[in-house]
Amino acid sequence: MSRDYITDSFYGTNHFPPEDLGELLAKSSDRDIAVILEEAGRVRNQRFGKRINLYAPLYLSNYCSNHCLYCGFNSSRDIPRTVLTPEETQKEVEYLASAGFKSVLLVGGEDPFRAGHSYYRDAISPLLKTFSSVSLELSPFSISEYQKLYAAGADGVTVYQETYNENLYADYHISGSKKDYRWRLETPERAALAGIPNVNIGALLGLAPWKEEILALASHLNYLIKKYWKVNFGISFPRILSKSEDFKVPYPVSDRDFVKILASMRLCFPDTPIYLSTRESPVMRDNLLKYGVTHMSAESQTAPGGYLNPGSVCEQFGVTDTRKVVDIMETIKSAGLSPVFKDWDKGYIPSEKNLCG
Ligand code: SF4
Repeated sequence: MSRDYITDSFYGTNHFPPEDLGELLAKSSDRDIAVILEEAGRVRNQRFGKRINLYAPLYLSNYCSNHCLYCGFNSSRDIPRTVLTPEETQKEVEYLASAGFKSVLLVGGEDPFRAGHSYYRDAISPLLKTFSSVSLELSPFSISEYQKLYAAGADGVTVYQETYNENLYADYHISGSKKDYRWRLETPERAALAGIPNVNIGALLGLAPWKEEILALASHLNYLIKKYWKVNFGISFPRILSKSEDFKVPYPVSDRDFVKILASMRLCFPDTPIYLSTRESPVMRDNLLKYGVTHMSAESQTAPGGYLNPGSVCEQFGVTDTRKVVDIMETIKSAGLSPVFKDWDKGYIPSEKNLCG
């Protein structure tokens, strides 16, 4: 693939066709990968400007009735479990607010009895006194349940398919409601039909051969973008890193492939936000800033109560980039980009609820 091919494709059509993703992912020479990275950075700056949006996860519960082999919260693990009270949540909120965060992602294990739909619905409205955006990474819900969460003030839903390979999905999800592959796969559509304006999908890289996963993720994204064109779909493809998790990664993804994946997705989906988690190292995150990332979590704690009492409760996964958000902001600025805490306001929400095309 030549530089001319990439630039001509972009300038000619104003987008790089998703159908070419497989060809980009197959590139292996230093020269080809350098061209892909360079173009990805240019496209990112052209479509999103120089901003990098920062957000923090806010874990409210680590109870979970599912047994997902790769997760620190799975039901077979004998770990201290907790659900934050409103008072405990407020203390975490104050910490995050003092660090400058305006966007939070509520996260919790799947346990409908200890922390179910009504627990999270009730948790949203107090958060809106502090944060301009509250999004959710929780168990999959029905359309009517998502409508209630939207009415309570949530503006985003994140749900990763984990792996799109149905056979491997069955192997990793031993018991619990998450075994239902189809229910999970259709969750982004239910969120879109409920009127949620921002919906993020993704795959957990390391569970299946990465090319297969990325092509499936791209196909899913392409379908969703075309059908629910008023919804803002984002993507993420976090890697499980064996050094930070009690799980032997069956299909590891190299740093070189990970960078190529991210840049290739940027080229094929120029307007799609790409999220990068603190699973990645500071060096990797600092490099990826240049090649397509638009949103980064920062200073993440992956246990309920973890901001005020780090280490008191088991984490869901190990964080590799443990820097304070002020240090991450400095790095972003030194790369010529602008760290941004607020990029969402209720005023952006359209009056009509049905966002289906
Ligand atoms: S990945 Fe989610 S559903 Fe699975 S065990 Fe962990 S918290 Fe529970």
